Amino acid sequence: MKLDLRPLLAGERYLSFDYELPLDISPEDSHSFLQGTRFPSPMKVTGDITNTAGYMRMALTLSVDYETECGRCLAPVSGSFTLDLEKTVAPRKLLEDLTEDRLDEYAIIEDGFLDMDTQLMEQLEMEFPVRFLCREDCKGLCQRCGKNLNEGPCGCVEREIDPRLAPLQRILDQMNEENK
Ligand SMILES: [Zn+2]
Ligand SMILES: [Zn+2]
Repeated sequence: MKLDLRPLLAGERYLSFDYELPLDISPEDSHSFLQGTRFPSPMKVTGDITNTAGYMRMALTLSVDYETECGRCLAPVSGSFTLDLEKTVAPRKLLEDLTEDRLDEYAIIEDGFLDMDTQLMEQLEMEFPVRFLCREDCKGLCQRCGKNLNEGPCGCVEREIDPRLAPLQRILDQMNEENK
């Protein structure tokens, strides 16, 4: 959506907005940081811009439901991601002297309008977590046999002895033999 800021530029003090932005990102799009994530409903965007004697400040909250998979065990994970943002709003001609990284702090007015969606998509890609876990202590999959270790041990670990500990294991085995 493009917000019409001409009333604010003409002296209005307040503008609020509340809209939905559909996220048509393919989960297979490998160019997106959001790869592998599905968004079943549009992103919700609410916020406002206040104009104090020409100094404009935007505050907004975006929230989006996601469906993805656990970064360790691949179990489905879903939830809602929320982000609060605040930016100074200014026409491009006032920002010409700023370097690229300073520009990130601004929402830039072009010809009286503010292109919200491009900015919000960039912000979402920057802030959205790279990976989710089904739970804090997810044990993941066994790298050897692929079993989900949250469902119990797979047996690989027990059978495999660290080569450095092998001599110790032999002594323990011997002691066990002698105790029989
Ligand atoms: Zn997991
Ligand atoms: Zn295993």
